[in-house]
Amino acid sequence: MLKLQEFYQEMGVSPAVYEYGEKVCEKLKKRFAEIDQIAEYNQAKVLNAMQKNRVSAACFAATTGYGYDDVGRDNLEKVYADVFHTEAALVRPQITCGTHALTVALSANLLPGDELLSPVGLPYDTLQEVIGIRESPCSLKEYGVSYRQVDLLADGKFDYEGIRKAINEKTRLVTIQRSKGYATRPTFSVTQIGELIAFIKDIKPDVVCMVDNCYGEFVETIEPSDVGADMVVGSLIKNPGGGLAPIGGYICGTAECVNRCAYRLSAPGLGQEVGANLGLMPALYQGFFLAPTVVASAEKGAIFAANLYQPLGFKCVPDAEESRHDIIQAIELKSEEGMIAFCGGIQAAAPVDSFATPLPWEMPGYSDKVIMAAGAFVQGSSIELSADGPIRPPYAVYFQGGLTWPHAKLGILMSLQKMIDANLITL
Ligand SMILES: *Cc1c(COP(=O)(O)O)cnc(C)c1O
Repeated sequence: MLKLQEFYQEMGVSPAVYEYGEKVCEKLKKRFAEIDQIAEYNQAKVLNAMQKNRVSAACFAATTGYGYDDVGRDNLEKVYADVFHTEAALVRPQITCGTHALTVALSANLLPGDELLSPVGLPYDTLQEVIGIRESPCSLKEYGVSYRQVDLLADGKFDYEGIRKAINEKTRLVTIQRSKGYATRPTFSVTQIGELIAFIKDIKPDVVCMVDNCYGEFVETIEPSDVGADMVVGSLIKNPGGGLAPIGGYICGTAECVNRCAYRLSAPGLGQEVGANLGLMPALYQGFFLAPTVVASAEKGAIFAANLYQPLGFKCVPDAEESRHDIIQAIELKSEEGMIAFCGGIQAAAPVDSFATPLPWEMPGYSDKVIMAAGAFVQGSSIELSADGPIRPPYAVYFQGGLTWPHAKLGILMSLQKMIDANLITL
């Protein structure tokens, strides 16, 4: 049997890279133990919700057609609502991705003449066409919904005075993006989001506060819905799908908001009553069950990456020491070549398509070329080990996921190896 180090060498990780990685791991034991504690808490939270709602084999049966009386689907929504502590939940394979879930939540709860406010700067790239910041047919703007934005202050804090001035009689919905997306700004903690929501509701109590929760689920023991959000929205091929959900999105929130979302997703009058589960319930339940520990693995990978790259002179957001509120690690690689080498390493460590070479390409919904490394069981799944980023200064790669910590570790070591092979780093 090969020793681990020899095995890694056979897979392309040199002894020098392995040794450097081991030194970094040694320092991280305490932080990893803290992450395991959060996972333990969240595991109990999910289990408790599953037991309370009497999940049974009957929930796993496939339905087709209209999907009336779909026990598995309806019960899964109760489980989600209990975990997020909300009145209602919409969890559907018919929601095709995170952008779709957010689009449903926004267009269901904004009417012509209303205004949407983002108090945390520019939203995630794909939402810019949804809102109409970049012109698009069927944007909210085309339907007469106006948009206002307040940027973060230079230090990454909320511009409370600016926000106060931006709220007006038309303001109907506030969108708060928890994770940084493709920006090098900090991710907000759930507590910070709660403070922002309290501030906004103090000025205008009937405004709907929606949180784009992508990549944030289960990183902390509380969720934005625990601190006043009327809707939390995310993708099932990120954290809450636990790597097993092959498609889907969720919206958890007040009964009123979620009802409107269901009417928007299917049709007024039909709402949550229709939407067959197509046999996906085992994956959606089991994925949600695994999600807390999968998220912990991904977070360990992110922390390992920051602690590996920062001492080598690359700016990391969050930095090596900072507390974490999502699973994303941004690393500024300083050049297009750096992004290609890094992504090449992540790809080479993948269980699927490890032989492929990621290159920059024009991707729908994004204004710059994008590079993506993803050797995933589920196409584009970013709870699986993946790295991506738009080709523009500061050439930041956004690294995320890893269904298991050992896989995340190997992928990051491979990325470092490729950077060294391309003469971009010397150890
Ligand atoms: C991924 C993501 C989205 C959109 O998700 P897709 O599933 O790719 O459509 C929206 N907001 C944030 C912050 C994200 O990270």
